[in-house]
Amino acid sequence: MEPTREVVIIGCGPAGSTAANLLAAAGRDVVVVEREVFPRFHVGESLLPCELPLFARLGVEIDGRQFQYKQGAEFIDERSGDRVFFSFAEGLAGTPTHAWQVERAIFDHLLADAAAARGAEIRYGEEVVAAEVSGEHVDVRTDRGSIRARYVIDASGQAAVLARLWRSVEPIREMGRAAVFGHFFGLSPEVQEELGALGNVKIFLIEDGWLWAIPLVGGRLSVGVIKWRGKIDEALHEREVAASPILRRLTAGAERTPLRLLSNFSFRNQRSHGPRHVCVGDASCFLDPIFSSGISLAMLGAEKAVDLLIPALVAGDEGRAELMAPHADHMRIAYESFEQLIRRFYHSRMIHNLFFAAEPDPSLRRGLISILAGDVWRDDNPFQAILAGSGRRRQSAAG
Ligand SMILES: Cc1cc2nc3c(=O)[nH]c(=O)nc-3n(C[C@H](O)[C@H](O)[C@H](O)COP(=O)(O)OP(=O)(O)OC[C@H]3O[C@@H](n4cnc5c(N)ncnc54)[C@H](O)[C@@H]3O)c2cc1C
Repeated sequence: MEPTREVVIIGCGPAGSTAANLLAAAGRDVVVVEREVFPRFHVGESLLPCELPLFARLGVEIDGRQFQYKQGAEFIDERSGDRVFFSFAEGLAGTPTHAWQVERAIFDHLLADAAAARGAEIRYGEEVVAAEVSGEHVDVRTDRGSIRARYVIDASGQAAVLARLWRSVEPIREMGRAAVFGHFFGLSPEVQEELGALGNVKIFLIEDGWLWAIPLVGGRLSVGVIKWRGKIDEALHEREVAASPILRRLTAGAERTPLRLLSNFSFRNQRSHGPRHVCVGDASCFLDPIFSSGISLAMLGAEKAVDLLIPALVAGDEGRAELMAPHADHMRIAYESFEQLIRRFYHSRMIHNLFFAAEPDPSLRRGLISILAGDVWRDDNPFQAILAGSGRRRQSAAG
């Protein structure tokens, strides 16, 4: 049987809809299989500036009425009284200067609709249950039938469909292990005004973990707790919010949605590309979300993969095993930069000192802000050079 489709994509989150959009825009035949019906809730609401140029390419307009403008990130240690705000505008020259806080039900639907408008077929409410890759084609089996295609992109997020089928999931230890989160709504008008002025994400450092507070439009505040040790449950969320004077004040009089829990989300996929397949977004790697890198790396990674795939489809050589090697190299730079930053943030005084220093080295501070903005593919960042050096030392010690 000949392939009936060119590309099948598993999952229509930010990575899947970015890939579908760009393939369809290039005139390629693409079908996305998404197990949920949109709009649907998803965790992860804080974007980074680095993906701003991609929205234009996707034909997606991010509207200040739908989403909250985000100027930067704030780190707070209420135990010591340390507090610092990084404005993206203070990064290295060329780093985009703002981002957005998004309610994912709306954001993901917007991206999916943009892909459909460009000609991608999206099948909602259909689940991929198996996939087989051969030299000539891929067969993707769903709960409704089979699709034979020339190429498969796994953008299934934490479900990591191919990695779980092929047992190539490698958990990353010492990173965020579990989270409990929900939305407060009905914040007082004064609090809404205060949070909306800069729209920054607040990260609170706590024992063995951290909390996020992300302002969303409509008077909502997303609050989550992440721990890398110890028990995670709803009572922990309530305790941590009650223990924080700032969060107590911001949420006074507000109501809260039911809480949700997630665990074991930090992992690498050891087989994220090969003949006729590539995994993008969380399906290829997911790091602790402390620096809000997930969505941006998912979308920029999907863009890079598709830019390699389109010419290969035209030439008919998309079956080459090494087609996605440049994609893997490109993404390694980003994942390693964030992984080093996260490890040092958690396990060394160096980051703590730099973050909260009274008079930080100005060029290191600018470099740090550019990384916090996701602007990691440049070779003039002194802070990134220090992180890369520490990564190499760690690897050679392990090896
Ligand atoms: C606690 C927590 C907090 C986070 N906070 C942030 C943040 O503030 N900022 C940020 O950028 N990132 C954050 N993230 C990460 C972010 O949520 C992800 O990185 C991002 O959603 C990845 O996009 P994706 O397209 O790869 O996967 P997803 O967005 O997960 O999309 C995958 C899609 O695939 C579908 N799917 C799954 N299995 C199947 C199947 N078998 N068949 C068909 N469809 C399937 C799913 O329904 C889903 O719609 C956070 C993550 C966690 C765990």
